[in-house]
Amino acid sequence: MGRGPVSKYLVALILCFGMLSSSAAAGAQESTPQRPRVLILYSLNVETDHVLFALDALRFFAALAQKENFALDATTNWEDLNDANLQPYQLVVWLNESPHNQAEREAFERYMTKGGAWLGFHVSAYNDKTTKWPWFLTFIGGGVFDNNSWPPLPAKLIVDGRASPVTRNLPETFVSPTNEWYRWKPSPRLDSHIHVLLTLDPSNYPLGIKGLLTYGDVPAVWTNTQYKMLYMNMGHGDKIFTSPVQNTLIENATEWLLGKN
Ligand code: ZN
Repeated sequence: MGRGPVSKYLVALILCFGMLSSSAAAGAQESTPQRPRVLILYSLNVETDHVLFALDALRFFAALAQKENFALDATTNWEDLNDANLQPYQLVVWLNESPHNQAEREAFERYMTKGGAWLGFHVSAYNDKTTKWPWFLTFIGGGVFDNNSWPPLPAKLIVDGRASPVTRNLPETFVSPTNEWYRWKPSPRLDSHIHVLLTLDPSNYPLGIKGLLTYGDVPAVWTNTQYKMLYMNMGHGDKIFTSPVQNTLIENATEWLLGKN
């Protein structure tokens, strides 16, 4: 789980920035009131496997922006989480981190309370018992980080939110690619405002070798029905986008949060 050099991914990153900035420029030229804007926040000074996911996700969302006709901006500057900057965006995506200070937390809280949308991946929902952001803990369903599987492994997921547009065209179960899986305590399912869409199948237990998930209700994707938000546990390593089924899930989620389906 240690940090490591990411220099060999800089070329990919530069390519990615090129793609994103051309997309943003195109957005400025063609802008129409109907074209939604999405802001991705991520970090490069975090665990290597979280950086790898973020770089893959930037490519995935850049392609999706072309397909679904939304404007996409991406930044590693979390100070961009402020009222003025967030104003034009219909959706904010956190790939692998969360706000760094109180001003950023409060700006995000205002954004969501006023009807903004959020898609959070993996460690972006991390909380422990010393959390300094009680609003966010309620927002994600009240669960603090409890345990994780290690090493990263694929896992069978149950699609239990069948009626949601987010799970459209998904099978009843599928194998989600290699990921580090988190268990939250208490389970977000116990919160009456939380709608769980996908859950780790108990048939995976024991999941892991060094870090073991051996029991419990482990939701993997859920929404808080009081907000336009969706959390996905996926986001560790460079295999996340290798499943067409899971890619459909992420695409559906993005469309749903943008009010398209
Ligand atoms: Zn991880």
